[in-house]
Amino acid sequence: MADTVTLLLIAAAGMSTALGGISIVAIRRLTHRMHDTILGLGAGIMLGVSVFDLLLQLGEHSSEDWLLIAAGIVTGAAVITLLIVLIRKMPLPMPFVKNPTTVTTGAAFLLFIALLIHNLPEGLATGIGYGHGPTTFGNTIALSIAFQNVPEGLLVAVAVLAETGSKRAGFGYAVLSGAVEPAAGYIAYFTLSISPATVGVISGFAAGAMLAVVFFQMMPESHRHGYRVPATAALAAGVLLVVAMNLMLGQISF
Ligand SMILES: [Zn+2]
Repeated sequence: MADTVTLLLIAAAGMSTALGGISIVAIRRLTHRMHDTILGLGAGIMLGVSVFDLLLQLGEHSSEDWLLIAAGIVTGAAVITLLIVLIRKMPLPMPFVKNPTTVTTGAAFLLFIALLIHNLPEGLATGIGYGHGPTTFGNTIALSIAFQNVPEGLLVAVAVLAETGSKRAGFGYAVLSGAVEPAAGYIAYFTLSISPATVGVISGFAAGAMLAVVFFQMMPESHRHGYRVPATAALAAGVLLVVAMNLMLGQISF
């Protein structure tokens, strides 16, 4: 049965982008170096969550369904890749291109869409983590996701602010980019509560989708301005952070 605490925790993890969004009150601009570092960190945390939490720990619990997990990984990666390719081909509305001095107009909306898609598997992961209620395992995933949502919300807010000159729009789009997380989280949570046997395939799907987002979208974007070294260092830090969190919360032992 769905309990309110679990549902609230899923919402809170996803909506932490709002915390990043509200930070534009203090931080109005980000250097390219900072932008690339934030993306690297987010990518590292996603890699950590997909490998250590979704695949290693859940895969262990459903060892007989390895074929289903594999099918989930392939499907998740394919669906996300297709989604990104299709969206890049679509003529997108650029709702807030108002500032003619911006170097690349429309970049903010593209970043918003990119982070929106990227938040789908993060929401799924949170919902899967809380599949058995507010457990330590669930908290480990939710904390990891919430942690990187803050700077990612700030990325969206700063980009939108640069194009519109409106802090309110910046904050609004940061919140909106995170809103897909609780939605995806609830889909995963309720699917698992109806049919617990789907845990392998859903975990595989979320992990595959995360890996696709990381390799197809975040890594190239984080290298675009030439700050590969700080982006790579941040990626390693992100993976380490997830491992450390799992160790501290007693989820894994070496
Ligand atoms: Zn993220």
